[in-house]
Amino acid sequence: MADVVVLGAGMAGLVAAVRLAEAGLRVVTVAKGYGSLRLSPATIDILGYRPEPVQSPAAELPGFAEAHPGHPYALISPALLAESVQWLKEHVNTYAYVGDPSTNMLLPTAIGVPRPSAVVPETMAGGDVRDIGPVAIAGLGVLKDFHAALAAENLQAATAAYGRTTQVRPVLLSPPTDGQADVGALGLARMFEDAAFRRAVAAELRAAVREDEVVGLPAVLGMDQARLVWTELQQAVGRPVFEIPTAVPTSVPGMRLDRALAARLRRAGGRPSGLTAGAAPSVDGFDVPAGAGVMSKEGAAGRMVPALTSVADVAGAGGLREFPSCFTSGDASSSAGSFSSPFAFLLKSREKMLIRLSRRPSMR
Ligand SMILES: Cc1cc2nc3c(=O)[nH]c(=O)nc-3n(C[C@H](O)[C@H](O)[C@H](O)COP(=O)(O)OP(=O)(O)OC[C@H]3O[C@@H](n4cnc5c(N)ncnc54)[C@H](O)[C@@H]3O)c2cc1C
Repeated sequence: MADVVVLGAGMAGLVAAVRLAEAGLRVVTVAKGYGSLRLSPATIDILGYRPEPVQSPAAELPGFAEAHPGHPYALISPALLAESVQWLKEHVNTYAYVGDPSTNMLLPTAIGVPRPSAVVPETMAGGDVRDIGPVAIAGLGVLKDFHAALAAENLQAATAAYGRTTQVRPVLLSPPTDGQADVGALGLARMFEDAAFRRAVAAELRAAVREDEVVGLPAVLGMDQARLVWTELQQAVGRPVFEIPTAVPTSVPGMRLDRALAARLRRAGGRPSGLTAGAAPSVDGFDVPAGAGVMSKEGAAGRMVPALTSVADVAGAGGLREFPSCFTSGDASSSAGSFSSPFAFLLKSREKMLIRLSRRPSMR
C-alpha cells in the first residue's frame, strides 16, 4: 500500500517521488510514458532568454517574476530555487552536475550553436563557449546523427561572435564496431563502457588532436558509467574532453539523468517502474480508470499505454489533490522545464493523494 501515487515520471514526477520517499512516505509513480526527460540534453535551463540570452538567471529572476505574475517563478523564492538546484546536484551525483543559478554557461548544441544553461553535466561543461580554446570536434563515422563538420563550422562562427578567434575543426573517428556501419547514440554509449573500445577511440584521438586543443565528442560517452568513461578518456587522450548533446532522440544524457533519479528513488524505498500495458483497476488502493498507464513493479520498460483519459475520473474515485508544478524556463515564451522540489515542502500529511505533475501553464 502506498501513501502517495505520483502521476508522471518525468523530471517533476521523479524529483517529487524521491523527495517524498526520502521523507518517509511510501511512493509509487504512475505514468503513461517517459515524458521529455529521455529526449532532453538534460541541462537545467533556469532562465535562458528574455528574449536576449540571459547571463545571470539569479539576477534576472526577480524582474522576470514581476513581469510574469502567472509564472511559477513568481511563486517561489530565488533561495528555494537555489536550494532545489543544490538538491538535484546532490542527488544525481553518480552523474555529476556543475554550475548554479548565478551564471549561464553557453554550451554548443549538436549543430554547434551555443545555448545558455545554468546547471549542466560535468561532462559537458568544458564546451562553455565563453572560455574555450582551440577545439577539435570529433565525429564518429557510425553515428549518422552527429555532423562534426557542421558543428565545428557553427561553433567557430559563434566563438567569433563572442569576440574570440578560437580555431574549431572537425575530425572523424572510425573505431571498430564489429562491422556495424550505423550505430545509434544508445548503442555507442554501451560500446564506450567497454574498455577496449575506449582504448581504440583514445588511440585515434591521440593521433588526430593537437596538443593545444580540447576535444568535443557527441554525448555518447557511456550510460551508467559516464563519469568513469569521460575521466578515463581524458586521461588516455591527455586532453580535456567535453560532450555535445546529440539532436536526435533518444538522448543519452537524458537517459542518464532519468536512470540516476530512478535509482535514487529505488534506494529511498520508492517504486519507479517500467510502463505496463493493460487496464489497472487499482494502484495500491487507488482506483484508476481502466486503460490508465501504470508503472509496474517489474518494470516492463518501453511499452506505451493509453493515457489516463481523465484525471478528474481518478479524482472522483481516489481523491485527487492537484498542486501547481514549478517550472524552470529556458525560454520564457515556451512551455519549459520543471522543478518539483517545492512539492516536497507542501506535502506534510500522510493522507493518500494523487499528484498530477504534468500540467504546464501557459507562459504567455
Ligand atoms: C525535446 C525536449 C528537450 C528538452 N530539453 C530541456 C533541457 O535540456 N533543459 C531543460 O531545462 N528543459 C528541457 N526541456 C523542457 C522539459 O520539459 C523539462 O526540462 C522537464 O523534463 C519537464 O519535466 P516534467 O516532469 O514536467 O514533464 P515530462 O517530462 O513531460 O513528464 C510528464 C510525465 O507525465 C506523464 N503523463 C502525462 N499525462 C499523463 C496522463 N494523463 N496519465 C499518466 N501519465 C501522464 C508522462 O507520461 C510523463 O511521465 C525539454 C523538453 C523537450 C520536449
